[in-house]
Amino acid sequence: MAFAPVWLEDPSSLRHDTGAHPEQAARMVAIERELSARDWLGFERVTSPAVDRDVLEAVHPEAYVDTIERVCLTGGGYLDLDTVVSPASFEAALHGSGGAVRLVDLLLDGAAPYVFTAHRPPGHHATRDRAMGFCLFNHVAVAAQYAIDRRGLERVMILDWDVHHGNGTNDIFHDSDQVLYVSIHQSPLYPGTGPASDVGSGRGRGYTVNLPVKPGSDDGVFCSLVDRVAVPLARAFAPQLVLISAGYDAHREDPLGECRMTEAGYAAMTRAMRSVCRTLEAPLGCVLEGGYALGALAGSVAATLAALQEPLAADAAGDGADGAAPSVVAAALERLAEWWPELAA
Ligand SMILES: [Zn+2]
Repeated sequence: MAFAPVWLEDPSSLRHDTGAHPEQAARMVAIERELSARDWLGFERVTSPAVDRDVLEAVHPEAYVDTIERVCLTGGGYLDLDTVVSPASFEAALHGSGGAVRLVDLLLDGAAPYVFTAHRPPGHHATRDRAMGFCLFNHVAVAAQYAIDRRGLERVMILDWDVHHGNGTNDIFHDSDQVLYVSIHQSPLYPGTGPASDVGSGRGRGYTVNLPVKPGSDDGVFCSLVDRVAVPLARAFAPQLVLISAGYDAHREDPLGECRMTEAGYAAMTRAMRSVCRTLEAPLGCVLEGGYALGALAGSVAATLAALQEPLAADAAGDGADGAAPSVVAAALERLAEWWPELAA
């Protein structure tokens, strides 16, 4: 196997024009500048294709896709208070979902050990039929559905560490026991969803795991939740693919969140997930979500790539495994024991 890790991107991300807006093309420029200064950390840059419409429409109804296309191609405008589109936004969003699908293929085909797909607009707030929170199509959800429908997987885990709750992903897989959705997010914060009590519905009960954290939460809180909740959940669920909804707006410099993470924390969470994925022989891919402090975003993406590339220690539990667990961990483990008795031990 040719075995360089892959970075997926497309110039359409730069043409999604949001005007004076935190979700701006400068985000991609900042990431590119940082990574190119570091020789892309060994990642091979590959252009993402546009998603096939039928793959996209396994998540988003045709009428919704048509509406987004029409609004964009007739000049764009605001879809809600936060979400603005330009004529090129539809194409950018198609490539965002296409990148996430290509990520799945590269990983499942054994063509790359790790893949990071970086596009705008982001995706995790988009529900099946509603654009919101800067998002049009839910790329990570399209990728997970594709892995199940087209690649025959039965269990996909999504870890969402964006500071905002991924309400779209939460809702799309709410009644599914094939997608384990785990979200660490600040509460209270936009969009106001994702209480710990939302555990999914129907056969999906227990497969939606919401881990809200207080404003001010730092590397210790996030890494503890990954090490002591997300990693044990992965062991119990045994996913055949792990996707990270990788937003970087829990960084202490981010203007939209009030958490206090650092680059080291993102590296530690990456290391912990990489370690459990190795044990489970599950491929791991990252899909960019938010992150609005340009320097912090670029540095944190680089920290993630570096953590995917560095030699992995035999036991690479993240930094949060040391010391006392925050109370959110104990509360989560107690709550989850109803569906995941393995976590009680
Ligand atoms: Zn966010």
